[in-house]
Amino acid sequence: MNTGARDAPAGAGIDDRPQPAADGGDTFRQFICRACGYVYDEATGDPDGGLPPGTRYADIPDDWACPLCGVTKADFEPVQPTTAVRTVSTAAPVARSDRRRHDPGVVIVGGGHAGWQVAQALRAADPALPITLVSACSADGYPKPVLSVAIARAIEPDAIVREPAAELARRCGIRLLADAHVIRVDPVAHTVRSTRGTLRWRRLVFAHGAKPRLPAAFAPNQAWRINDLVSYRRLRVALARGPQQVLIVGAGLIGSELANDLALDGHSIRLLDLASRPLAALLPAVASQHLLDAWSSLPIRFIGDAEVMSVDSAPAGGHTVRLADGRTFTVDQIIVATGLAADDRLARSAGVVFDDRQGGIVVDARTMRTSDRDVFALGDCAVAGGRASRFIEPITRQARAIAAAITGNGADDDTVTPEVPIRIKTTALPISLHGRLDGDGNWRVDGDGADGLRMVRVDHDGAIIATLEARPPATSARAA
Ligand SMILES: Cc1cc2nc3c(=O)[nH]c(=O)nc-3n(C[C@H](O)[C@H](O)[C@H](O)COP(=O)(O)OP(=O)(O)OC[C@H]3O[C@@H](n4cnc5c(N)ncnc54)[C@H](O)[C@@H]3O)c2cc1C
Repeated sequence: MNTGARDAPAGAGIDDRPQPAADGGDTFRQFICRACGYVYDEATGDPDGGLPPGTRYADIPDDWACPLCGVTKADFEPVQPTTAVRTVSTAAPVARSDRRRHDPGVVIVGGGHAGWQVAQALRAADPALPITLVSACSADGYPKPVLSVAIARAIEPDAIVREPAAELARRCGIRLLADAHVIRVDPVAHTVRSTRGTLRWRRLVFAHGAKPRLPAAFAPNQAWRINDLVSYRRLRVALARGPQQVLIVGAGLIGSELANDLALDGHSIRLLDLASRPLAALLPAVASQHLLDAWSSLPIRFIGDAEVMSVDSAPAGGHTVRLADGRTFTVDQIIVATGLAADDRLARSAGVVFDDRQGGIVVDARTMRTSDRDVFALGDCAVAGGRASRFIEPITRQARAIAAAITGNGADDDTVTPEVPIRIKTTALPISLHGRLDGDGNWRVDGDGADGLRMVRVDHDGAIIATLEARPPATSARAA
């Protein structure tokens, strides 16, 4: 599958020949996923993906999938400290400050993966372009998909940050306003108002993500919503008191992955969904059943066809939950994972078209341009080709498309296809999906044995349009 991330900048080609160590010994090397930032370390391998510790990059099969985002080996490059700065000349800061006086350049709203990807793509395309990134959070760089497998991977919350925001900003040569909320956009004056002042822009990029939806039965302080490192850290503190009863509402990608991960930590999980099976929107029924079978060794109880009607404080602590069918139970913690929607306020103040049904800013799928030609959007806040795609893989391609549209430099053929590789990181049974999952098509089993489940999705003419692979882990579910 072409993810677009393969077209590395000049000089970034993968040299996978064994590298002699400085001391003449045989060292292990690290390779970074250009789509999501996952680092493959030859020393630890990827046991869940069938690669034992010590597996050299050169020996990884071509169809191996990134354990975080699902792209293939071709989308990795060697970890080098200079990866993102090589396009910034040492003279650039002077040129930039001189240019900023006349040109307000680009303002990026959001310091998540999308914000930083577009900052880096713009810098690679134009070494002197003034770029300002405004972020409501610290904007530290971290791979968000790790949040739902941190326990399986034995990663403490404090170790999840990969690069502090100030270091990222220095590396990209941009101005950073961290812990600053953008409140409003003036599309005529070309300004944004933030909690740290008003900024001018020539081009504006929305990368402000989306927020978890909260079903009507819940008050905001009753349920965790895990969509950033800050909320995840707090959840881990609350769970550190020892094994607890946890209700997870929503058995989609994030709810299912968190159920798997928290169960590995000894918590008893009730995983509840309106649908009759987990991951019903992504998986065929056979694959959902395989996942349920794999979970039978973990303390996870799936409750399908269920809706929460009310939540009350329990007299002895925790929450009493009542379902629509009258069942009640008490839990210590509730996590809601029932989907995301972007805040529409910035888009509406900017006067750009917002899709209420998808919960995102409407963009052209080739350029990521909104209905205002000077305003762009990418990542979780964007709706491209009529659909929100809240996955990490297309963000690199989207960022490069925006950089090409703004600077006129670089590939502009990175159409954002709806075919995003998906890796479901349930370590009891990791599942990879590739190809077209929307529109008409029928799944059929292609193989089902000790080495796992293989399925293909075919269209009316019998052509294969998607594949699914669910392989039991090579070692224990905790190994990763
Ligand atoms: C637990 C979990 C597991 C996941 N696993 C996977 C996976 O396995 N595979 C996959 O493909 N995807 C996965 N995802 C989804 C993926 O991580 C997201 O699609 C991606 O990180 C979105 O990046 P983003 O930059 O668009 O949004 P965010 O990461 O949400 O960043 C938004 C940024 O905007 C800032 N912001 C918001 N409002 C404002 C404002 N008004 N002013 C200024 N700044 C603002 C925020 O502070 C933040 O910095 C997972 C997500 C979660 C939560």
